[in-house]
Amino acid sequence: MIALVRMDQAHGQDLMASDERYVWHSMKPYSPQGTMVVKEAKGAWVTDVDGKRYLDGMSGLWCVNVGYGRTELAEAAYEQLKELAYFPLTQSHVSAIKLAKKLNEWLKDEYVIFFSNSGSEANETAFKIARQYHLQCGEHSRYKIVSRYRSYHGNTMGSLAATGQAQRKYKYEPLAPGFVHVPPPDTYRMEEPASTDPMKLRSVKDVDQAMTWELSETIAAMIMEPIITGGGILTPPDGYMKAVSEVCKKHGALLIVDEVICGFGRTGKPFGFMNYDVKPDIITMAKGITSAYLPLSATAVKKEIYEKFKGSDEYDYFRHVNTFGGSPASCALALKNLEIMENEKLIERSAEKGKVLLNELKSRLSNHPFVGDVRGKGLLVGIELVSDRGTKEPISLEKINSVIASCKQKGLIIGKNGATVAGYNNVLTLAPPLSIEDEDLQFIIKTISDSILALK
Ligand code: PMP
Repeated sequence: MIALVRMDQAHGQDLMASDERYVWHSMKPYSPQGTMVVKEAKGAWVTDVDGKRYLDGMSGLWCVNVGYGRTELAEAAYEQLKELAYFPLTQSHVSAIKLAKKLNEWLKDEYVIFFSNSGSEANETAFKIARQYHLQCGEHSRYKIVSRYRSYHGNTMGSLAATGQAQRKYKYEPLAPGFVHVPPPDTYRMEEPASTDPMKLRSVKDVDQAMTWELSETIAAMIMEPIITGGGILTPPDGYMKAVSEVCKKHGALLIVDEVICGFGRTGKPFGFMNYDVKPDIITMAKGITSAYLPLSATAVKKEIYEKFKGSDEYDYFRHVNTFGGSPASCALALKNLEIMENEKLIERSAEKGKVLLNELKSRLSNHPFVGDVRGKGLLVGIELVSDRGTKEPISLEKINSVIASCKQKGLIIGKNGATVAGYNNVLTLAPPLSIEDEDLQFIIKTISDSILALK
């Protein structure tokens, strides 16, 4: 047994050395200490090559919604690969049809689905559809896409242009032209006038003004997440999203809702927008669609919009192709993934357990001098840390990192996001699998609270 452990450890060190030599990691400053090399995972827990277990409080990158180790998902992909490994969606195949139909049930309305592989591609697809839609309608001047500062919409030249975080962008500019940014709603940091009329919210008026000043007839669409996630879990004020959707209508702009993180139960509803009584024109989704077991994304487009692309003319169709998008195995796996969510009532579970998580964190942390705000919806929570509750000065990166390190040392992986100023991440984030066990939820609450309460 002892020999076995030693062998495993040697193996772990070898792997870490090879990782250091060969693998370029995303979003991680170079660290001579190397990185965490994970070997296997089950439920909410991942195990590294040295056998140490961690509760993954971020579901990977907010994506493993049904948790790890679901062999039925592997089997669904395997069976599909044996039957039909590939066929392009310039024609069609059975699992894509079934999945598109199932997504319509989840969306509770009539949408036509374009499949791709990643959230970034789903958003690029949405932008191109929005631009061409206006051409199809004879409106040749509409090309601008409005989005919010602090949002994240992807890593490609268009989706990064839509992203509202300068520190992620400046090294790669110029990005795609035609993107306009407006301030986000931020109930913690930005003053909103006290009013029951959401149209009077500062953040709603900002959208209206930007669309007016840019000229309505140049605006193709607005893209927004129901809750800004990567920018620090910005839950909107009451009525915000509906009011923005009305502003979009007023200016003739389509509303694209980015459900890449908020979709598939994360916020306690099938899709995040369903919390806010809006009907998006286009909905983009990825991550939770397969719980990240295989790559897949989708751009769901209102049927009326799709109808405009049905003319027989060369200029009418959507000239956009994606080799791997909607691959049979990914679609078959996604269907099984949605079936698991339905059978295990994971959306309801996210709503219910999310309340426990938020309320317990609030009650343990709200009076702490470094805790500015605790917010979220469903199993999506942000804790904004400040050095001074009066001035709301973001806490130092060193302190934020010490909380993350303390959690990790105790066996919990959490995230950090925010970007209140360029490069500054002062919001701790949690997005555990929706299947999280009660005991594991309590472990998260205790571990993160203890780590924050120990801050000096
Ligand atoms: N939109 C949102 C809201 C995201 O959080 C992300 C990724 N974190 C993307 C789009 C891009 O997705 P991908 O990384 O799959 O391209």
